[in-house]
Amino acid sequence: MICEFTLPQTRERVMLIQQERCLVLLVDGRCALAFDAEGRVLCGVRNGVQFKRGMSNNLLRLGERREILPPEEASGELALLYEEVRRVADQAPPAARRALEAVTRCGVRRLEEEARHFKALYGQVPVLPPDQVQALYLQATVGCSTNRCSFCTLYRDRRFRVRTIAEFEQHVRQVLELVGRDVERRTSIFLGDAGALMVPADELAVMMRLARAAVPGRPFSCFASAGLGRRREAHELRELRDLGLDRVTIGLETAHRPLYDSLRKPHELEDAERTVRLLKDAGLHVGLTVLLGVGGQESHSAHVNDTARFLDALPLGPGDWVYLSPLHVEPNTEYAAWARGRPARQFSIEQLQIQKAVLQCRLRASLGERGVRITSYDISRFVY
Ligand code: SF4
Repeated sequence: MICEFTLPQTRERVMLIQQERCLVLLVDGRCALAFDAEGRVLCGVRNGVQFKRGMSNNLLRLGERREILPPEEASGELALLYEEVRRVADQAPPAARRALEAVTRCGVRRLEEEARHFKALYGQVPVLPPDQVQALYLQATVGCSTNRCSFCTLYRDRRFRVRTIAEFEQHVRQVLELVGRDVERRTSIFLGDAGALMVPADELAVMMRLARAAVPGRPFSCFASAGLGRRREAHELRELRDLGLDRVTIGLETAHRPLYDSLRKPHELEDAERTVRLLKDAGLHVGLTVLLGVGGQESHSAHVNDTARFLDALPLGPGDWVYLSPLHVEPNTEYAAWARGRPARQFSIEQLQIQKAVLQCRLRASLGERGVRITSYDISRFVY
């Protein structure tokens, strides 16, 4: 449904586009907002400021100053936004007012209440591959089983553990209560956090069946470590594929061996290759992340050349992804200490862009020809 009208008091032009899974409101070229089926704002542009909002109620301001707004500021922005929608709804014709009902019923208080539930359910969801940002996130495990890579702080706030099946079942129920009618927009399921494939295969199969019964027809994906190939047999992965497992994403980061070793990745470079081959043998799609800027200027050529060669030798094809992810150096990490005071180990934004362009060019010429998707994966743009 598309509905266009003029607000009688201010003469602003309004367009309302009701899509299957979301509602888009445009006000006079000044404001464009998308809402989910529960009336929660998802993203938009308002008065020149572009933003994204997650279920966590984190409000990410995009543009030159990209930042998660402090809670009070986010609250103020959301209050103004919902006030604006109510002003539009008050003057809208009946059909448009009906279409806006879920939004006018929603508001900052509800979003903040849900954010508390979200925190109790997940802690936080620190990252997802860019093609999975709309996935339904279900935690089969909590945290990362190794938590030791020198540059990574994603799961430092939690100890790794596997959820019991009973706990997982309850988790699924609670997630669905929180998500509500927005479940229709969730076209896949991501099994979090970083170690779902650490769950024994028979238990994971039960968890996947439970998730499928609650939300049918969605493919699953998850992260795994490069050491997966040491622990899993192809037949176990084939069984999981038959239950809907579609893609497994592995943090390669670099294939330049000295650099790889210095990152304190929990497994060997050879393990990454073995794991990718095993996943492909099992008929699964693979995602591989490569860090941009890692090792700094001194490693640029070796990082690009070794990584491009390594990826080219893997049996990747259509349905596989390579994610190019700019390294964000967190101050209190081993990596930061390793690079501190060593300009050759650092990178400017411009150098990072050059590395991205060179890698994209190399990978598109080889893997792109084979149907592999190569895309950016900037975790600073992520909210869930
Ligand atoms: S394995 Fe992945 S999630 Fe775990 S510490 Fe390393 S980079 Fe972070």
